[in-house]
Amino acid sequence: MGSAQSALNFGAGPAKLPREVLEEVQRDFLSYQDSGMSFIEMSHRGKEYTKVNNDAQSIVRELLNVPANYKILFMQGGGTGAFAAVAMNLMGRTGTADYAVTGTWSSKAAKEAAKYGEVRLVYPQHKKSGSIQDQSTWTLNPNASYVYYCDNETVDGVEFPYIPETNGIPLVSDMSSSIMTKKLDISKFGCIVAGAQKNIGPAGVVVVIIREDLLGNSMKCCPSVFDFTYIAKENSVHNTPATFSVYVMERVLQWIKKNGGLEVMENQAREKCGLLYKTMAESKKFYTCPIDENVRSRMNVPFRIGGGDEKLEELFLQEAEKLRMHQLKGHRSVGGIRASLYNAVTLDDVKLLVKFMIEFQATHGPK
Ligand SMILES: *Cc1c(COP(=O)(O)O)cnc(C)c1O
Repeated sequence: MGSAQSALNFGAGPAKLPREVLEEVQRDFLSYQDSGMSFIEMSHRGKEYTKVNNDAQSIVRELLNVPANYKILFMQGGGTGAFAAVAMNLMGRTGTADYAVTGTWSSKAAKEAAKYGEVRLVYPQHKKSGSIQDQSTWTLNPNASYVYYCDNETVDGVEFPYIPETNGIPLVSDMSSSIMTKKLDISKFGCIVAGAQKNIGPAGVVVVIIREDLLGNSMKCCPSVFDFTYIAKENSVHNTPATFSVYVMERVLQWIKKNGGLEVMENQAREKCGLLYKTMAESKKFYTCPIDENVRSRMNVPFRIGGGDEKLEELFLQEAEKLRMHQLKGHRSVGGIRASLYNAVTLDDVKLLVKFMIEFQATHGPK
């Protein structure tokens, strides 16, 4: 708890990972399982990586209860690469796809996909940030190859409180900042993509969960490293994978299992974000959250201070740094403060942040 060795990290990504896992990785770094070699020096076709690759797939399958007719892939190119990969793999069937644009990342995904086919927005470009339009206002194209949404908008701080209904059209979701933070019915999805560096590992690996019947439709232009069908066939070792990232991710996922799995992560997430939202509600508008209450993210909590007083916010960040609370600055596109509360951020970390917020208000708030 705020010890000399470890800072409080509220970063949005790359983000805090469980210290226990970092220590384990450090212990094994120079000599992986007494081999005298580091894991990062080992062949991706050797028995050590083969085991890690298979174990990582198994633990993803176990934690999320992924049905047998879904493949689990590990790819590179980040979340942004996945925006293009989704379109190149899945849009070819009808040449058109539906996108729900609810913030920065889904907007980028829609722009990227438009290079490969017709992108339709399920409702006119949303004007009010901090909201998600009710599904009754969406218009779905029955001819769409898929319907796309971003489950949790990391920059904007909005999270879907439901899984969209698509009348049988494959549903695709970017879960980069919410995967492994709640239980999910995978059978409702055609495809899920998630960059690891927000919640489950280091940067460098993207987890793709895809229903088997959607494979085999990639466009001719699709590079083989982005081709879900190839990657599935080659068990995610089509070329050299990000071996170290997959290894650390596997360790993080085991840590989640050891700590009670997704049910526990989900309960902790509610409790942690609840503390922050409550502090704001009780602050007499000194702290304000610009997000509609029903879609407030459990993972990324943006807020403003003193009605958006930039000097006060800068002071808040400086004083937080002195207390070793790091990476609280809001995304450059929205400003203000953002606290990210991924699985490795503890309830005690959040309590310390709340204590600081209350003290800061007592000192700098209106008297
Ligand atoms: C961070 C993030 C991305 C982009 O990931 P990169 O790996 O930086 O390309 C995409 N979607 C969401 C929801 C994210 O949080």
